[in-house]
Amino acid sequence: MAVARFTVEVPETLEYTSLDTIEDSVSVVRNNYITGRPRNMYWRKFQLHRLHQLVKDHEEKFYEALAKDMGKSRHEALMGDISPLLEECLYFLDNIEKLAKDEKVQPRQITNRFDQCIIRKDPLGVVLILGCWNYPVQLPLVPLAGAIAAGNAAIIKLSETAVHTSALITKLFPKYMDISCYRIVNGGVPETTALLEYKFDHIFYTGSSTVAKIIMTAAAKHLTPVTLELGGKSPAVITADANIKTVANRVAFGKFFNTGQSCVGVDYVLIPKNKLEPFVDALRKTITDWFGANPKESKDYGRIVSVRHFDRIMDLLDRRQSGSIVIGGDTDREARYIAPTVVTNVSFNDPGLMTEEIFGPILPIVTYNELEDAVAMIKRQEPPLTVYVFANKKEDQRKVIDYLPSGGVCVNDTLMQFAEFSLPFGGVGNSGLGKYHGKRSYELFTHERSMLIKKQRFEFLMRARYPPYSAHTLKLLRASLLSSSLTTNRIIYKRGIKNTFIFFLVILFFYIRKRLL
Ligand code: NAD
Repeated sequence: MAVARFTVEVPETLEYTSLDTIEDSVSVVRNNYITGRPRNMYWRKFQLHRLHQLVKDHEEKFYEALAKDMGKSRHEALMGDISPLLEECLYFLDNIEKLAKDEKVQPRQITNRFDQCIIRKDPLGVVLILGCWNYPVQLPLVPLAGAIAAGNAAIIKLSETAVHTSALITKLFPKYMDISCYRIVNGGVPETTALLEYKFDHIFYTGSSTVAKIIMTAAAKHLTPVTLELGGKSPAVITADANIKTVANRVAFGKFFNTGQSCVGVDYVLIPKNKLEPFVDALRKTITDWFGANPKESKDYGRIVSVRHFDRIMDLLDRRQSGSIVIGGDTDREARYIAPTVVTNVSFNDPGLMTEEIFGPILPIVTYNELEDAVAMIKRQEPPLTVYVFANKKEDQRKVIDYLPSGGVCVNDTLMQFAEFSLPFGGVGNSGLGKYHGKRSYELFTHERSMLIKKQRFEFLMRARYPPYSAHTLKLLRASLLSSSLTTNRIIYKRGIKNTFIFFLVILFFYIRKRLL
């Protein structure tokens, strides 16, 4: 399996796929899926291994590319991009045989008792994966690992915004992967629109809810199922008994990791009024300890991915009608730099900071008197991707978790639920549709094919279901279909024993009848 390592430079530009070749790419991948190669177990493992090596062999170049795209530090690149992909490939290599195994289920119908009921794990076919820019290695390639493991072929559309990382993946991909089964298409709106014209067997999209509606509409034309990994305003609810120093660290981590450009990032904080001042002091200390007096000079603080996103975030700040900036506020458009910024006394309905997902390093803080009031305020918004709650009391944790719907929950920490791949990840309502990671990715890209395997024996047992129908055959049908019909007084039996007993009675009845007639 080993292929000689080679050196590669991080490309400066991302070449878009010509619109004329998209049809060819889709049909090559479709035709190769039909040959059955991506389903072959050896091939799946081989390709997962190759995907792992694509990143592992060039880890340094990936750090360089991610730094060029958004000033991502090595630590954040390792946590957010490199390790999730490498670990996901290894997880599938270790577990694929188990995941792919037929699942035997216990038949419920008496007449199937001696037959086989099996759930077979078939691939879906050719899947389209549309990636996003904020974790440009993880977001397109982790779903790809799941799609490969489940035996699918795939077209992958990388992010056009994370230019350097996407260009590096594109350059390495044909050297490692079987591009007749898994193929990259690069581009922006026209290329994505062109791709969406074709029929896929599943579309996996990560990005905004606005574009998700376009994706879902296009998919509907072909009745293609979709998974939508979206965003939203994920609140951090801090309760009265929280340890402010620890909470300040964890909230700062959830807000300023990747310069606030995380779908599961803390969008805003809700805190009891009397805790505001100590919390802001603790946040100020955390930010200075982590990034120094001038975060612009810190090697550990990143940049906004593009001028378009810089302008979008600044517009939210400019449009605000409440609150005052108490930490940060410095910006540099040319350098796409926005300092870690904290805005206090923001009104919950502020038209700038509280209407859309911020997706940048600005933290609005809203105060509340009673926890119930905070919960009621959040409930007015669309269900977020995550609800964060900082509380020692179980009762307070429950007050938040029980009353607020969300894709996921993280208690007393931030972001780490996204990194825990044993948990399914995804949103609800406006924050997404469908779940993935680890086993759930395998299931997502799998068609659970139900199979009933019967024998040709015992045809006489089937007579009751064939015409001509009579009162007598109806009675027999009732006996075999309705487990309570032989016990008209509806005594509750242990089902397993009872069903087998009834089955034998039915066989005996038919046997005696056949002998006598
Ligand atoms: P986006 O939604 O604009 O772009 C994502 C993809 O959609 C790109 O591949 C792009 O080419 C394509 N696209 C853009 N416009 C299109 C159009 N008109 N027609 C067809 N395709 C189009 O990306 P964004 O808005 O910058 O992403 C940020 C959002 O993504 C945030 O809301 C964030 O929370 C969310 N997000 C969610 C996750 C998650 O895992 N749930 C991860 C990352 C980002």
